[in-house]
Amino acid sequence: MILLINPAVPPDSPWGLSKLLPPLGLAYVAAALEQADFQVEIFDNYLHKKPVDKIKEVVERHDPEIVGIGCNSVNYGQCVEIAKAVKEAEPSCKIMVGGPHPSCVPESVLAHKEIDYAVMGEGERAAVELAKYITKRTEATKLSNILGVAYRYRREVRKNPPALIDDLDELPFPARHLLQMDRYDRNIEYLDEKPADVMNVVRGCPYNCRFCETKKIWGYKCRAFSPERIINEIRHLMDNYGSKGVYFIGDNFTIFKDKTLEFCRLLKARGIELEWACDTRVDLVSKELLKEMKKAGCKTIWFGVESGSPRILEKLNKGVTIEQIKEAF
Ligand code: SF4
Repeated sequence: MILLINPAVPPDSPWGLSKLLPPLGLAYVAAALEQADFQVEIFDNYLHKKPVDKIKEVVERHDPEIVGIGCNSVNYGQCVEIAKAVKEAEPSCKIMVGGPHPSCVPESVLAHKEIDYAVMGEGERAAVELAKYITKRTEATKLSNILGVAYRYRREVRKNPPALIDDLDELPFPARHLLQMDRYDRNIEYLDEKPADVMNVVRGCPYNCRFCETKKIWGYKCRAFSPERIINEIRHLMDNYGSKGVYFIGDNFTIFKDKTLEFCRLLKARGIELEWACDTRVDLVSKELLKEMKKAGCKTIWFGVESGSPRILEKLNKGVTIEQIKEAF
C-alpha cells in the first residue's frame, strides 16, 4: 500500500495560524493512484499535529511499500524528520516527496539520503508511474523515462523534466473520501453558506509577478477543468459532503472568460444553488462577466492587488495599473 503524508507546519509560522483546509494536492495524487489500482491512505499531520514518533507508529501500522510526502518550504523541516522516521520503521520502504519545495529545489531535497525520489511539477502522473516502477508492475516504464522525477544516480542527481497535463478533465476527483472532511474548517470568509469547501480548477499562469513561484509547479501554460467537469465535482461535493459553498482556491479563476461564462450559465441552467468565491486578477474581469458571476452565485472575489503604489506594482512586475484596480472594484 501507499501512505501519503502531509507534514505539520511549525505552530508559530503564519501558516500555523491559517485555516485548516484539506490537502487537495495530496488528494489529487491519491485519486490518481487509486485509479491505477493502488491501495492508498492519507495521514494529514497538518490536521492531526502529532509528533514524529507518533507518525512512525502510523507507518509501522500501515507497513507501506511507498510513502509519499507533500512538501512545501514551511513544512520541509518535518518532511525530512518524517522521512528519517519512515526509514527507521520500514527500511525497505521507498520515499517520494512532491510539492512546491521539491519542484523548486529537488537537489537539496535529495541531499537527504532517506528521500529516494523528488517529484517535480504536477504530481499525479509522475506519482503513478513512479509507484508502478517501485512496485515492479509489468507495465512500468524505466525510471529515466518517468517525467517529473528526480533521483540520485551514483554521485549525481538526475532530473527528468516535468510534463504538464494538457487535459485536466482526465484527472479523477480528489480523494476526499480518504480525508476526515468534517474535521477541516468548512467555513470560508465572506461566504454565508456552510459547509463550504475548496476546489482548484485552474493550473498554470502566463504572468510573471516577481514574488510568485506558481509557474515552477503548474507551468506558464494555463489549463482549466471544463465547466461540465467543474459542475460534476460541485454536485459530488453537494451529494457526498453536503457542501453549500465553494471557494475556488488557486490563481486566476477567470482567465478563460468564455469558460467562466459557460460555467455560470451551466450553474443557473442546472438550478444549482451554490454560493461561491474565487481568486483572480483585476485585469481578468469585465462588467459583463462580473454580472454573470453574481447571478450564478459568486459572492466574493479575492483580487491579487498587491499594492496601491505604481512604483511597487512596477517592481513586482504585476502588469496591472492603479486605474485597472480601481475599475475592478
Ligand atoms: S498572476 Fe498570480 S499566479 Fe500569476 S504570477 Fe502573478 S501572482 Fe502568480
